[in-house]
Amino acid sequence: MKLIFLGPPGAGKGTQASGVSAHLGVPHISTGDMFRSAIKNQTPTGLEAKRYMDAGELVPDSVVIDMVRERLAMDDCKSGYLLDGFPRTVEQAEALDQISAPDAVIEIDVPDERLLSRLTGRRVCGKCQGTFHISQLADEHACPICGGELYQRNDDQPETIATRLKAYHDQTEPLIDYYSGEGKLHVVEVSRLKTVNGDSKPEEVFKTILATLE
Ligand code: ADP
Ligand code: ZN
Repeated sequence: MKLIFLGPPGAGKGTQASGVSAHLGVPHISTGDMFRSAIKNQTPTGLEAKRYMDAGELVPDSVVIDMVRERLAMDDCKSGYLLDGFPRTVEQAEALDQISAPDAVIEIDVPDERLLSRLTGRRVCGKCQGTFHISQLADEHACPICGGELYQRNDDQPETIATRLKAYHDQTEPLIDYYSGEGKLHVVEVSRLKTVNGDSKPEEVFKTILATLE
C-alpha cells in the first residue's frame, strides 16, 4: 500500500502516520524528520534545509525530491510507503507520480484556529521522536514513552507558525484538487483523495483513518 498523509502543520500527521504505518507494515517516511536528522548530522542537505525550516518556509523542490527519490529506492519500500509531509507542492506531487504513484491520499482536516495551540504546545522527544502536547505531560521535560529529553522545535514559535500556515494554504492546499482529479481538465480519473476529520482525539482519528482505508 502506497499512502500519503496530507494536512496543515499540527494536523496530527506524524502521530497518525506512526500508528497507521505500523498497522499496515509499511515504512513511515517523514521528510521533516529526515531534514531534522540531516541537520543534526550536518550533512550538505541538512545545511541547505536549515535556513528554510527555521524561517517556516518550504525547502526547494529539487532538494526534497532528490532526498525522497533516494529513500523510496531502498528495500523496505518494496512493501509500499506512508509519506508524511511529502508532497507539499504540485511539482513534488508530479515527481512522485513519476517515481512511484500513491494509491491513496488521506487529508487530515483541522481548522486553522485549532492549529496554533497544538503547535505552540508541542514537545518532541530527542530520543524516540515521539510528539506530545504539554497538556498531556506530567513532566514537561521528560518523554513519557522512553524517558528521553523533550524539546520544542525551532519552528514552533508563533511568528514562524504563521509563515508555515501560509505556505500550507498557498503551496500545499492545491494538492487537494490535484489528487481529487479536479485539477485535470481532460482526464477523467478516479479520486485518490479521502478526507478525514482530524479535530478529535488521536484514537478517534486513528479509527476513522483505518475505516476509510477499508
Ligand atoms: P509540520 O508538518 O509540522 O510543518 P514537518 O516536520 O513535516 O512539520 O516539516 C518541517 C519543515 O521541514 C517544513 O516547514 C519545511 O521547511 C521542511 N519540509 C518538510 N517536508 C518538506 C517538503 N516536502 N517540501 C518542502 N519542505 C519540507
Ligand atoms: Zn521518547
